[in-house]
Parts: sequence; C-alpha cells; structure tokens
Amino acid sequence: MILASRNPHKLEEVKAILGRDDLVLSPANLGEPIENDVTFAGNALIKARYVAERTGEAVIADDSGLCVDVLGGAPGVFSARWCGRHGADDENLHLLLNQIQDIGDEFRKAKFVCAAVYVEPGGQDIIATGVMAGSLLREPRGDGGFGYDPIFVPEGHDVTAAELSPEEKNSISHRGQAFRALVKELERHVF
Ligand code: IMP
Repeated sequence: MILASRNPHKLEEVKAILGRDDLVLSPANLGEPIENDVTFAGNALIKARYVAERTGEAVIADDSGLCVDVLGGAPGVFSARWCGRHGADDENLHLLLNQIQDIGDEFRKAKFVCAAVYVEPGGQDIIATGVMAGSLLREPRGDGGFGYDPIFVPEGHDVTAAELSPEEKNSISHRGQAFRALVKELERHVF
C-alpha cells in the first residue's frame, strides 16, 4: 500500500505503527498537491486523493501538526511551514520558542493532532484522528523524532518526545493513535 508522503521519517513511523514492511512512499514523479484545506483531515484527504487518482491504488495518508493553546491552536495546519517555507524543522521550532519565550510554564500547554485517512479510487474514504497532549519546554532536548519533538513533553512524562524510543513515542503519539484507529475502522468497513 502507498503512504501519500515524501517524508521517509514518516514512512518509518507509520510502518512501525502498522507493523507493515510493504508500505511505500508516493512515486517520486507524481509531484505534490497544494494542501490548502484548513483542517488536518481535509489536508490528509487532499494528499491521499491526489495519489489514489494518479495510481489507481488504495492510499493512506496523514496530516498532523502542533496546536499551542496560548497561540489559539497555531501553528496547527501550518506546522510544517511555520517559518515561511517547507522542510525547515529547526527554524520552525526556534520561531515558536521565540514567540512564546515570555509565557509562564502553566500556560505552555500544547497538543499534537493527527488525522489519518484511507482512500480507495471509487470507494469510500475513512478518517481517524489521534491527539497527544503535553507542554512546551524553553530549550530543545533529545536527538530522536523530528519536527517539534525536542521541545514537547508528553503529559505524564518528564522527557521530551525526542528522548523517547521510537516504540515509546509510537505507543502514545497522535500518529500512533490515529493509525491504530484507522486500522480498526478498516477492519469494520473494508476488509
Ligand atoms: P505533515 O507532514 O504535513 O503532516 O506536517 C506535519 C508537521 O507538523 C511536521 O513538519 C512537524 O513540524 C509537525 N509534526 C507533526 N507530527 C509531529 C511529531 O510527531 N513530532 C514533531 N513534529 C511533528
């Protein structure tokens, strides 16, 4: 099955969550759609439909981001391009840290949200979501994960998401929850 993404890191996470080694990224020559919806589910469907229409295959996709309470839910769907361009995880993270530098610990709550979708050409769409709540540090910590992981401490933990093992992160993450819920829905509706 195809994961509609160009992100090898995401592929590894989703493979591990689903326990499927046969998952592949979108063919490189397909190009990418403009993700211009304002919801995670809407953008995940844009990605999945784009690849499903061009390959004729069943496709899964996700869209995710970090929603910071004190920023009214931003960066949200703009998480991957918060600094103004795509693929600059470090700049995104430092811009966010600067924006909330004067905010006290009690107001640094945030959550990662993920919408995972399954799209079949001519078939039904299936959507599932997952949330991981936590709070934001003042300095990055840890080498694992990606994106905002080094400044995010999941609720009930005293380490950042970047200090968790991949297995620990997948067991509590927004993406882990969303894809596990998607599989449950697929078992009910499709297979
Ligand atoms: P997507 O690939 O369009 O879903 O972009 C998601 C963006 O949200 C990423 O580029 C990261 O900035 C952020 N993000 C989503 N999930 C995670 C995560 O598990 N850890 C850290 N950052 C994440």
